[in-house]
Amino acid sequence: MAVQKKKQPRRSNTIKLKFDTSWTYAPAPESRSVAQIAPEYDLFINGTWQKPSSGEYFDTINPADEKVLSRVAAANEKDVDKAVSAARQAYDKVWRRMPAKERAKYIFRIARMIQEKARELAVIESLDGGKPIRESRDFDVPAAANHFFYYAGWADKLEYAFPNRQCSPLGVAGQIIPWNFPLLMAAWKIAPALATGNTVVLKPAETTPLTALKLAAILQEADLPPGVVNILTGAGATGAAIVNHPDINKIAFTGSTEVGKLIQRAIAGTPKKATLELGGKAANIIFEDAPIDQAVEGVINGIFFNQGHVCCAGSRLYVQESVAAEVIRKLKHRIETLIVGDPLDKNTDIGAINSRQQLDTIHRYLAIGKKEGAEMYESSCALPRKGFFCRPTIFTNVAQSNRIAQEEIFGPVLAILTFRTDDEVIEKANNTPYGLSAGVWTDKGSKIFNMTKRLRAGVVWANTFNKFDPTSPFGGYKESGYGREGGLHGLLPYLSLR
Ligand code: NAP
Ligand code: MG
Repeated sequence: MAVQKKKQPRRSNTIKLKFDTSWTYAPAPESRSVAQIAPEYDLFINGTWQKPSSGEYFDTINPADEKVLSRVAAANEKDVDKAVSAARQAYDKVWRRMPAKERAKYIFRIARMIQEKARELAVIESLDGGKPIRESRDFDVPAAANHFFYYAGWADKLEYAFPNRQCSPLGVAGQIIPWNFPLLMAAWKIAPALATGNTVVLKPAETTPLTALKLAAILQEADLPPGVVNILTGAGATGAAIVNHPDINKIAFTGSTEVGKLIQRAIAGTPKKATLELGGKAANIIFEDAPIDQAVEGVINGIFFNQGHVCCAGSRLYVQESVAAEVIRKLKHRIETLIVGDPLDKNTDIGAINSRQQLDTIHRYLAIGKKEGAEMYESSCALPRKGFFCRPTIFTNVAQSNRIAQEEIFGPVLAILTFRTDDEVIEKANNTPYGLSAGVWTDKGSKIFNMTKRLRAGVVWANTFNKFDPTSPFGGYKESGYGREGGLHGLLPYLSLR
């Protein structure tokens, strides 16, 4: 009898994982009814809502179902000019002259109002940007309120922050923020600027303007004097008009390294000061003596939190060779249990990718990784039919020179590399143009100190990852930018010290 030949599996370096995922949860979506979203938003200039001078509006959509949420005004150079003069007037006539303890009361009030409206803000953040409600509710919104609370406290204590120095504000700050933490980034920018006596023109990202506009309504309700904060929606050109406006004294930018470089070029030769918070390619390093389960959970949180839309995401994992097989096995198992889907469902771990453009970028990198010869493992979960979603994905057999190990993907994609010695991993981890953050997992305190001293990154977490606090400064080395936000250090970029 002829032996039947076993069918050979198709050779491919993509492996769909199949583990028993135990059970599925019943849907538990947050109600949308708390979110009051107007069909159209104007520009917030001088404490009032003003029509854009071009008359143009653009749609902001929900990336989870591609439906339009609202139409938002597009600010051009004329509107930027109006906002900057409102901010200048407010600076000269009101804000810089106001006793610091009075300024603090406004900032404190804003913090309280964010807390009061926390649920609505969280739902809108998830609708407009695609992040899981668990994150917007438990992280973004409370952290935004905490930032205002923290800087309210500093406003009348600058002489203690910088003893024996005379502090004065810089003037009008132009602030440009990205789409990954829309409300939190607005808080990171506005709170220290106000505490130090500066006034603000802020532009949120084109795909996530809604919580910044809600914040504008809060500022109005808090009776913040007109012109102290102006919020202009628009695309990159609006940001460029803010950067180039001659009456801006300081630029605070968070976004890509590419745009950061454009901004640096644009302000070269001008007296404008700048802080740039740019991209990253963080290394998470697991030593053989680490508590492995805790480290695996930390790696999962480090890269899959907020769909990997995090500048400090632990997108490169370096595992010591002796424990690599165990760590990789556990990671593969863990990604299979992550729930991808409706951002408004509290059981969701990975929500929607922020835009089609970003999803295309991630897909491009997945193809690059495979082409470079790395082995790709993706969760076998089903994806919603509408909206922009991506399965959590792991690459093994990655070489240091591979583009997926060098370039920022900004998605739920982890590149895993191995190492044998401390010197080797330091050299590899530092071998990137970026230097924003890193993580070290080990049982040995001495190793933590050795690593943190030698890693060229602004933040190094030890036996944890992605932890933030308004009291801790945050910022990068090399092409991850310069200047610090948060903590006492975060006051400095808004002050001139004598
Ligand atoms: P992006 O394209 O650089 O955009 C950031 C902001 O700049 C947006 O508001 C954008 O407007 C605006 N912009 C675009 N072109 C501009 C120009 N020529 N002049 C002035 N402003 C301009 O970055 P993204 O893709 O939105 O955000 C992702 C990037 O941000 C990643 O690289 C990430 O690492 C980085 N990021 C860094 C940090 C940090 O703290 N270091 C934090 C979060 C994100 P539009 O949205 O309308 O294009
Ligand atoms: Mg949107």
